[in-house]
Amino acid sequence: MSDTDDELVRVTINGKEIRAPGNLSTIQALWFAGYPRVKGVGCLEGVCGSCRILVRRKDSPEVAMALGCQTLIEDGMEVHFLVFPTPTHHAYQLDEIANSWEVQAQFHRIFPEAVHCRHCHGCDVSCPKGIEVEKGVELAGKGRFREASELFVACVMCDFCMTACPEHIAPNHLGLFARRVTAYFHIRPSNLISRLEELRRNEHPIRTD
Ligand code: SF4
Ligand code: SF4
Repeated sequence: MSDTDDELVRVTINGKEIRAPGNLSTIQALWFAGYPRVKGVGCLEGVCGSCRILVRRKDSPEVAMALGCQTLIEDGMEVHFLVFPTPTHHAYQLDEIANSWEVQAQFHRIFPEAVHCRHCHGCDVSCPKGIEVEKGVELAGKGRFREASELFVACVMCDFCMTACPEHIAPNHLGLFARRVTAYFHIRPSNLISRLEELRRNEHPIRTD
């Protein structure tokens, strides 16, 4: 082994033992070792956020979720790249929402699972960008789309939160919806829309007796 080899750190990536300089990201380490990985590397495929990895550090039982491009290799680290499809059944067309008065009702039609949030924190724990995903889901459910949209500004659509969610809420797509409608409409006051929604659902029947 040469002096140079002594300066390299040893990591296992997708089951392959690799030696590479410690200042490289997991993706760069693969390239350094001669593995020309492109699949699952978002910036090379045109969709940021797809370099999802599971990481276990030396002497730690904890497995963390992260992005391969942002994670520098450490000695003894184990890394697995995740490639999974990104299906979502939350299809909609913004121009089918007639005006901003309809946004909240349409949201609940498109994302009916949102009201079933268990507050399990799975989305928060899995998010490599540190986004308050669960809070965003709650805000959107209350029609506070502008506030929700601001929480999701740094989202890279890596799908970790979607995969983690036991209620199939697809929080990232919910966040995208919030960002889109905020840009598309001038949102009316959420408390007023909520009250009108309650009236529409006949939750405040008029008593005539
Ligand atoms: S909100 Fe979801 S999709 Fe966006 S970065 Fe966080 S985990 Fe990834
Ligand atoms: S993972 Fe799903 S159910 Fe759990 S807190 Fe997040 S949105 Fe709610």
